[in-house]
Amino acid sequence: MAKLVYDKNGRLLFTKEMKSEYKLLIPNMLPVHFSLIQNILQNEGYNCELLTNSGPNVVQEGLQYVHNDTCYPCLLVVGQFIDALKSGKYDPNRTALFITQTGGGCRASNYIHLLRKALKKAGFPQVPVVSVSFGMEKNPGFSLTISLIQKLVSALMYGDMLMLLSNQLRPYEVIQGQTDEKVQQWVKRLTDQYRHSNGFGKKPMKANFDAMVKDFSNVVIEKTNKVKVGIVGEIYVKYSPLANNNLEKFLFDEGAEVVVPGLMDFIIFKVDNRIVDIDLYGGSKLKYFVVTKFKKYLLEVQKIFIDSIAACDKFQAPADFETIKKMVKPYIGYGNKMGEGWLLTAEMVELIHSGTENVVCTQPFGCLPNHIAGKGMIRKIRNHNPNANIVAIDYDPGATKVNQENRLKLMLSTAKDALKEKEQKQQISAKTKQAQPV
Ligand code: SF4
Repeated sequence: MAKLVYDKNGRLLFTKEMKSEYKLLIPNMLPVHFSLIQNILQNEGYNCELLTNSGPNVVQEGLQYVHNDTCYPCLLVVGQFIDALKSGKYDPNRTALFITQTGGGCRASNYIHLLRKALKKAGFPQVPVVSVSFGMEKNPGFSLTISLIQKLVSALMYGDMLMLLSNQLRPYEVIQGQTDEKVQQWVKRLTDQYRHSNGFGKKPMKANFDAMVKDFSNVVIEKTNKVKVGIVGEIYVKYSPLANNNLEKFLFDEGAEVVVPGLMDFIIFKVDNRIVDIDLYGGSKLKYFVVTKFKKYLLEVQKIFIDSIAACDKFQAPADFETIKKMVKPYIGYGNKMGEGWLLTAEMVELIHSGTENVVCTQPFGCLPNHIAGKGMIRKIRNHNPNANIVAIDYDPGATKVNQENRLKLMLSTAKDALKEKEQKQQISAKTKQAQPV
């Protein structure tokens, strides 16, 4: 069995021996994206599993082991890990935990310390925690190599593509389940490509994006008028069904087309922040050069992604990062970068400008940055866009699902009235045109 090794500060390391002997548990924030990431890591020799445990136990464990003024996403992530370890399904002497560290100023960089503290308190001090970050913590058994970064970037882009295409088709499909079947087929197909060290360069990405768009355009749909609802908010609560009580499914069941901005904008935002920091406060020229190069690469990949979607008139392509960055300038400064920072405001503005005037802004308890850039910006956005129908929904251990759904239903009812009014206006203008003499 692998020996426990600590660094000079007493941090338990994830060693090379552990790579083959240990099971790595990963919180599942976005099902499609994270399935691809799991498959990539498995191909790299890690034995990993995405956590799917949910329910009140997760919240209870979080409340027990994390201070109750800590933000809700942190409480859930820690609670889910402890709940999994206590379930008896995993051998705590051969299990490690994976967690991302964004490197920003908010608590997302510090979950890892809270998690280690919670593990000790819960009786699992022997479980190593692996940081997925750009050099914040090093472990002999895990490193983000350039080829692994490339693969992860491609997985995020493919995940964004599958999420976008399926969200635009699912509400209108004639053969129920056809869209989800295609998503599963593509996850399998991409995993096979990764297994053969293929699919993550720019060329294969373009080929795959084009093929995905073509393949999904074959889904049989019947286009009807539905309200479009965008979801924005703190990254974990926005995407994770565990955190937002299955928000996407709820909106879909209520007859809406759901529009969820992709994860890649968040990644570019985090990289862009490093550049903004140096522009505003100064810093290393070498870091500036490296980060600018990485951002350029991400923007190029995003352009390939958008071009593939825009080439097919069946789908609506999103705006690119630089466009939404310009769009948000009249609303908020670029120095506002904790949590989702200005990107959260930008996503709301972009949704409204691209025809999705109904927006759910998910707000976790204890998250100051997103209360400022989310809820705090709603009035200003409405002043510029009077038709915007934005609802802020709070997520915390005490919030009831019924209460959240009632607020969502109220927003949907306003959205449906606005859609009806629009349809009536369109009918009147069509009749007027017909009645006009030629
Ligand atoms: S953005 Fe908010 S919710 Fe997310 S980690 Fe930071 S403080 Fe917590």
